[in-house]
Amino acid sequence: LASRAFHPLDTIVRVGQVEVGGEQPPVIIAGPCSVESLEGILEIARAVKQAGAHMLRGGAFKPRSSPYSFQGLGELGLKYLARAREETGLPVVSEVMEIEALPMMVEYVDVLQIGARNMQNFPLLKAVGKTDKPVLLKRGLSATIEEWLMSAEYILSAGNPNVILCERGIRTFETYTRNTLDLNAVPVVRHLSHLPVIVDPSHGVGKWQYVTAMARAGIAAGAHGLIVEVHQNPAEALSDGQQSLTLENFANMMEEVQAIASAM
Ligand code: PEP
Ligand code: MN
Repeated sequence: LASRAFHPLDTIVRVGQVEVGGEQPPVIIAGPCSVESLEGILEIARAVKQAGAHMLRGGAFKPRSSPYSFQGLGELGLKYLARAREETGLPVVSEVMEIEALPMMVEYVDVLQIGARNMQNFPLLKAVGKTDKPVLLKRGLSATIEEWLMSAEYILSAGNPNVILCERGIRTFETYTRNTLDLNAVPVVRHLSHLPVIVDPSHGVGKWQYVTAMARAGIAAGAHGLIVEVHQNPAEALSDGQQSLTLENFANMMEEVQAIASAM
């Protein structure tokens, strides 16, 4: 079902007024790694909207490598995201980590994010496939493109046609950057599948200094959008501050990305 052989025309995933895929202009999703406070998420939401973002991201349930790291605000974080949507009109994207949390997530979010660590959590994929929410499916840390598309297949075959793929970098021998952003995947996925594919330069490189360059590259490679981590004070962020753009850096990134998009 994910294959272009089955479905030659590009799928366009609609999230409220926003359309992702096909020949639509790139869709930019921006926001903090984790929702930390109401004031924080409102400040970020206003700023990214002003800079031209189309959706707001923010984790409420976080898959942290250490159990002692900040795990997210849980339902309170979802309430804060909903408040930010109310004020700005931006649809919200947040990660669902387990089936038990799905009924709650569906009440608050516009797009369900499946994180890299859950790309092959097949029961979770089937469960989001039974909802009517669009799904942002991140590529696993060590997943091949074929495995990633088969994970999309789980969601589609459960009855949900609205899957957005997200390249977020893979593990390689290189350790200078957090991951290696596999931009090869963008044209490959566009060739193999009709589903939209976006790029996450933040997790792809892991250092904010390189995020804008890879955001530009992702759009130039043909991605249907970007998901970018933005924080009002990255040095104090509770997660992924080292890869988060400031509000000002994000606004500059948007100008550069829009220049590339309009030249294509
Ligand atoms: C995130 O988006 O903050 C996240 C945890 O991403 P990934 O699952 O790609 O590591
Ligand atoms: Mn993050």
